[in-house]
Amino acid sequence: MRLQLNRILAPVTVLGYGQRIGLWVQGCGIACPGCASVDTWEPSGGESRDVDGLAAQVVREIISRRLVGVTLTGGEPTDQAPQLELLVLKVREYLSVAGYEAPVDVLLFTGRPARAAAARAAGLWKLLDAAVCGPYRRDEPGEEPLLASANQELVLLSPLAAERYSRSDDVARLQVVSEDGQLLIVGLPRPGDLDRFESLLCKRGVSMRGNSWRVTT
Ligand code: SF4
Repeated sequence: MRLQLNRILAPVTVLGYGQRIGLWVQGCGIACPGCASVDTWEPSGGESRDVDGLAAQVVREIISRRLVGVTLTGGEPTDQAPQLELLVLKVREYLSVAGYEAPVDVLLFTGRPARAAAARAAGLWKLLDAAVCGPYRRDEPGEEPLLASANQELVLLSPLAAERYSRSDDVARLQVVSEDGQLLIVGLPRPGDLDRFESLLCKRGVSMRGNSWRVTT
């Protein structure tokens, strides 16, 4: 089985509890105005990955970096629910075989409301610890950790998630990563954050091309 993937990154520190691995799937037709991940919309973009090989890579990263969670985002993960269900099953199986003892939670970000996501991705939903659900609404900025807009909902689906995600501590919302000559901004920017970041870099002589949060560059 193959999954269309935009990006894999570790450690990710702003999309869930602790240090995690993040998988951005490719393809999203929800098209929220103001989406910061426009580069994940085109379903045929990114790269096609064998799920078993991807699971092995995820497990290697978790073990070598002592990570505590997996974040599934995109793009729209529920559009590739069977692939992600298999991926999570394999990651858990391989971690168990390797004797990795730290609890690893799986957190999903979906642009669909919780009920619709659970119906569309029933098998995957049963394997999750938590899910952030609902489309991004630019005009309703979210104040709670993990919620990009106030209409979104954090659904806790396991005791581990209740332990890790019940508190609403103020946490960093953006992480900047340099990888393969690219500057990546990970997280949940508030309105204007990305423009301010670009302007700050511009003042320091860094010009940006190919911004993923703009349809045209
Ligand atoms: S915010 Fe998420 S659901 Fe909305 S268009 Fe962007 S990737 Fe799709």
